[in-house]
Amino acid sequence: MTENTIYHDDDATHSYIEEKTVAVLGYGSQGHAHAQNLAESGVDVIVGLREGSASRTAAREDGLTVATPTEAAAAADVVSMLVPDNVQPDVYAAIEAELDAGDTLQFAHGFNVHYDQIEPPEDVDVTMVAPKGPGHIVRRQYADGEGTPGLLAVYRDATGEAKQEALAYADAIGCTRAGVIETTFREETETDLFGEQAVLCGGVTELVKAGYETLTDAGYSEEMAYFECLNELKLIVDLLYEGGMSEMWDSVSDTAEYGGLTRGEVVVDDHTRERMETVLEEVQNGEFAREWIAENQAGRPSYGQRRRAEKAHDIEDVGEELRALFAWSEEENREKANAPADD
Ligand code: NAD
Ligand code: MG
Repeated sequence: MTENTIYHDDDATHSYIEEKTVAVLGYGSQGHAHAQNLAESGVDVIVGLREGSASRTAAREDGLTVATPTEAAAAADVVSMLVPDNVQPDVYAAIEAELDAGDTLQFAHGFNVHYDQIEPPEDVDVTMVAPKGPGHIVRRQYADGEGTPGLLAVYRDATGEAKQEALAYADAIGCTRAGVIETTFREETETDLFGEQAVLCGGVTELVKAGYETLTDAGYSEEMAYFECLNELKLIVDLLYEGGMSEMWDSVSDTAEYGGLTRGEVVVDDHTRERMETVLEEVQNGEFAREWIAENQAGRPSYGQRRRAEKAHDIEDVGEELRALFAWSEEENREKANAPADD
């Protein structure tokens, strides 16, 4: 096992970013948060968006300067690439000529650099500052004087200052307040893809569907199958998130604990682990990346078909009906969130 270094506020020096102009390309989830946090930290920010982009009005209303991606990159020392990963190669092609020696090209995810979809010039620093949270949380935490943990990586250090500058950027968006973990483009990209495929998005949904189908095929009601295999997942995930596996095992009944400890490994067994290794190999050898890039170039035919099939699964209809019964709990949460805090 290897351990990564974690950086905090004291490790960051603001002067590495304060004299610089940062072009934030894209004003979506990450873009709006980086741009506003940087500006409030005293950094010069230009938001780069296409003419006619709907986000232009939003950025202007937030008090920021807006230009085209090419104009923003031309004026900037640091270009932060925060448009969707699948459009980054096109946006990069439009700004490549504006990258001068000693400038920085920065990312929040390593995919395009790691899989050679973007190949920046040798004399440009290439870094990553990736908050481990969606943009609205990055923005809200910063505004509340807190921070979102993040990742930091240096792919190319042309100036000798790439890491200091990335740390100062991480500080300016609030990440060092919580902690910034040093990683590499390879590690971030490969663990991110593997995690979302095998465990988070792909693994969990297949486990839920398999459990649901096992119960309904055996004659149990769809409602019971939905509650047991999907709805209650939230309670378990909340416990895992708060206190790890120990807190989850401590909180469920002894019957659930004994049953889980003995039967979990019957379901997720050596065969599953071998399959996980295959999924990881396809991430590592670039097979998944090539497939996904080709799928996009072909207009996403297989993606569209799989999306439709997933939406058509029975569990989606049952879920919609049953979730409506819980509408009150949503209401109540909203009311609580809006109520003035009592001291
Ligand atoms: P997003 O989809 O929320 O934002 C997209 C922005 O890019 C919008 O402002 C849109 O106007 C602009 N845009 C879309 N198409 C464009 C085009 N063709 N040309 C120019 N601009 C275009 O994106 P996001 O989720 O913030 O992702 C940005 C980066 O951050 C990605 O690399 C992603 O992997 C990474 N990231 C995202 C999250 C997250 O929670 N969303 C977390 C960590 C890292
Ligand atoms: Mg991910």
